[in-house]
Amino acid sequence: MLLEHERTLIVEYGKLLLERRLVAGTSGNLSVFDRGNGCIAISPSGLAYERTQPEDVAVVDTAGTVVDGLRRPSSELAMHLALYEKRPDACAIVHTHSVFATTLACLDCSLPAVHYLLGFAGKVVRCAPYATFGTPELAGSACAAIGDSQAVLLAHHGLLACGADLAEAFNAAEQVEYCAEIYWRARAVGTPSVIPDGEMDRIIEKFADYGRR
Ligand SMILES: [Zn+2]
Repeated sequence: MLLEHERTLIVEYGKLLLERRLVAGTSGNLSVFDRGNGCIAISPSGLAYERTQPEDVAVVDTAGTVVDGLRRPSSELAMHLALYEKRPDACAIVHTHSVFATTLACLDCSLPAVHYLLGFAGKVVRCAPYATFGTPELAGSACAAIGDSQAVLLAHHGLLACGADLAEAFNAAEQVEYCAEIYWRARAVGTPSVIPDGEMDRIIEKFADYGRR
């Protein structure tokens, strides 16, 4: 089976997305890119995470053509392909509809660094202008807005996060959701202040160092 290890990871992290309440039902999707052989393992379209087996995970090439797997790839395949092309540092992508990140996205609101843990995703998580789900327009909008962050909000839709591996992309998605909730709560009772740019640089450097250890 092509990309057997990566397909197993897609199954495991899919269940984790449900467990940590970052997705509901069959919403959201995730992928891993083996840049060595140019193949991407991506969650199948419309299949419950708890029922997904490694052989259900679709394997596509960089043009999106299915090369292995029993099922159709996720309907957001175009967004995954576009982001891998835009970001050579990304080898994994997690897309969620997590509640607090999506709340901000429904306000067309970017997420500033009001809490240091946002550093796992970048200095800011911008909100990409709305486009219909599953379209090349949405892929283009997300790629234009993400900048050098590890995550981007998708207006009236959800969150897209990337990383060097699935653990990193998943962590970025989870930390953004946490920071989005904190931001929402802080905004409800006052005006939160933002951590200065230079301090965020320092935090991001410390996180990178932490990761290496
Ligand atoms: Zn979605």
